[in-house]
Amino acid sequence: MDRIQMKTPLVEMDGDEMTRILWQMIKEELLLPYIDLKTEYYDLGLEHRNQTEDQVTVDSANATLKYGVAVKCATITPNAARVEEYHLKEMWKSPNGTIRAILDGTVFRAPILVKGIVPYVSNWKKPITIARHAYGDVYKNTEIKVPGAGKAELVFTSADGTETRELIHNFDAAGILQGIHNTEKSISSFARACFGYAIDTRQDLWFSTKDTISKKYDHTFKDIFQEIYEAEFKTRFEELGIEYFYTLIDDAVARVIRSEGGFIWACKNYDGDVMSDMVATAYGDLSMMTSVLVSPSGVYEYEAAHGTVQRHYYKHLKGEETSTNSIATIFAWTGALRKRGELDGIMELQEFADKLERACIRTVEEGKMTKSLSLISTCEKPVILNSLDFIKAIRSTLDEELV
Ligand code: NAP
Ligand code: MG
Repeated sequence: MDRIQMKTPLVEMDGDEMTRILWQMIKEELLLPYIDLKTEYYDLGLEHRNQTEDQVTVDSANATLKYGVAVKCATITPNAARVEEYHLKEMWKSPNGTIRAILDGTVFRAPILVKGIVPYVSNWKKPITIARHAYGDVYKNTEIKVPGAGKAELVFTSADGTETRELIHNFDAAGILQGIHNTEKSISSFARACFGYAIDTRQDLWFSTKDTISKKYDHTFKDIFQEIYEAEFKTRFEELGIEYFYTLIDDAVARVIRSEGGFIWACKNYDGDVMSDMVATAYGDLSMMTSVLVSPSGVYEYEAAHGTVQRHYYKHLKGEETSTNSIATIFAWTGALRKRGELDGIMELQEFADKLERACIRTVEEGKMTKSLSLISTCEKPVILNSLDFIKAIRSTLDEELV
């Protein structure tokens, strides 16, 4: 069989620990035999980030802006323990945060549905994709612990020195205070990424805030979404028969639970943080969640939603067998390959991505899976495979799909 040819390279961001091991296996078993894989390789493994003083992360994000599509392996976000473990020069920032800031992107997370792994919410038939606004609000807050009686005010001093004041509260005893902000630019980018991704995936877009209570702050989110929708996206939505739907966050929560799924739910930063964990858990397993970072200009970075699976890696280092689920990482590759195929007009690449995804799903549905999946699967006699044998089982299903 001739290998599929590519035109433009994918930006390949390698990562850490167990997912770095899986990365290599996926390339060797599932990609290189079938595709004349063109990538521009960036090693985001923690050692190399440390050697380059994290320049490699910045370079990989800039390459993504240049080429348009990246695929990323999970990476360690250093904490104090990691600084010691890897003898780091500094506690380097989260690569995902750095990349997101450069691409000005929004993260969309969606579950991979497989028969036999039943969502806790029985009426969910299709994936619910969560889009989380990843800037500002309580994540960039300023707080004061009020020691006793006094007056708290919100003060804005404009560039020309004019002051605007609002009374927050007259304290007669101790209390607490919090100041939060957001910017029109960031909210607009978030809105454009959401509308663009809804069009791209042909799904309805829901957006929710608490604008009835927060009449200026949350209401601004609602207004910006509405203005951008009408000015830039409404016609295309109507042509595709998809809908933009705004509702209050509490109403959204109730509707999401009653729904069948199959839409994108855009959330403010905190709501997205909380709801994405709820949705992921309700669908079954973090190892079955995919994630794509989409910039308002239409640049894509695909990855798995889970981390580097450190505990399995330490077992692997001790020579013990691991049974780590590679599906979300494989779907990061298929997402990127399909998008590259779309942008470059390579039909075979898009079809290959579809078939590889089907092969993953069929393999699990036919009862071959990793340990964590077997624990939540309704399959009666699952065959539990180790990390490499699971990938090999997917390969043999893929070979059936390809004939
Ligand atoms: P994690 O890597 O997601 O793993 C947490 C636990 O979830 C694992 O110990 C494992 O449970 C289970 N799990 C996750 N993915 C799995 C898979 N593919 N197959 C089987 N089981 C899976 O989270 P973490 O251990 O909290 O974080 C490890 C490192 O990842 C940290 O350094 C963190 O900074 C980084 N991280 C990176 C990203 C990213 O790059 N996007 C995201 C999150 C975390 P059992 O041990 O019970 O089997
Ligand atoms: Mg969280």
